[in-house]
Amino acid sequence: MKILSGLWEIISPNRARTSVWIAFAGLLVAVLLADAHPWMDGGVAETFAVTFDDIVEYFIFAIAFFIVFWVALDKVFQHRKLSRHRWPKREQVISEAIFSMATQFIFLAVAMWMMVVLFPEQARANRYEDVSEYGWAYYALTLFIVFFLHDTAFYWFHRMMHWPPLYRWIHKTHHESRDPTPFTTFHFHPIESILEAVGGKIALLTVMLTMPWHPSIGPIWMMGMIIFNSIGHLGYEIYPSWWHKVPLLSNKTTAMHHYMHHQRVRGNYALYFRFWDLVCKTEFKDYEARYDAMFEREREAKRKRKEEREAAKGSAPQPVEPEPTSVPLAE
Ligand SMILES: [Zn+2]
Ligand SMILES: [Zn+2]
Repeated sequence: MKILSGLWEIISPNRARTSVWIAFAGLLVAVLLADAHPWMDGGVAETFAVTFDDIVEYFIFAIAFFIVFWVALDKVFQHRKLSRHRWPKREQVISEAIFSMATQFIFLAVAMWMMVVLFPEQARANRYEDVSEYGWAYYALTLFIVFFLHDTAFYWFHRMMHWPPLYRWIHKTHHESRDPTPFTTFHFHPIESILEAVGGKIALLTVMLTMPWHPSIGPIWMMGMIIFNSIGHLGYEIYPSWWHKVPLLSNKTTAMHHYMHHQRVRGNYALYFRFWDLVCKTEFKDYEARYDAMFEREREAKRKRKEEREAAKGSAPQPVEPEPTSVPLAE
């Protein structure tokens, strides 16, 4: 009985500290096993350092995004604000930050497992060092494939998470924030953190196993993932008004896309691209209309301000010519 309740303690929702336990246990076993695989370039210490950088990177971006948009530029972006509140609740931010931190540790543990312990021979054989060997176009293609495969894994994992039993048990944690902030980005139940990490690493390993790859695509994909994901939870729209009207660009999701997911819970499941939502007809029908309406409000407010400025100019009291002083004629 004690074992069962202990197990429930670990897998029950809203347990930030159990996320950290899972992460540390995973890390410990990964490091112990990795010790038996000394062939990894740079060893465990380097892999650990690189993945630990991701934790620091995430917090730098989350804090920077929060300070820039919620504090410094709130007035400038007032018409692009998606969140309905001036400030998020303090408890919300603290809880999100703890969960996001725990998630980063779990990502680190899974990365150690998959990249150090399971890193297959074939993947090592496909590695090349000099970008000029295959050219920049090829480099960009490999990076795009990693993003697309990760988006595919994310979309299907995420849709699965919205199946009611899994939603109630696992994904509800992420949806506690209806008005997300950059700290919501990795606010996951520990089981979801593990699945997310596995999905991402499968995307990366698929490329590493099947085509020549440059060692920088991993860290660049990771940084892009953190930035795009944080924008999706920013609470402000930072993409331009014409974004969804330009053929290729329109395929990239905006901040509004994921914000609508948090507001309405069902629909808009993808992370980077609209592709899977459009193919599976899960994109909200009014996504573009809402996007346009937001910018129309911004234009309207600008027009109003301009009119007010001009009206103020027009009705300003004109400098009055001094009346000639009538000097009484001397009689
Ligand atoms: Zn969701
Ligand atoms: Zn989210």
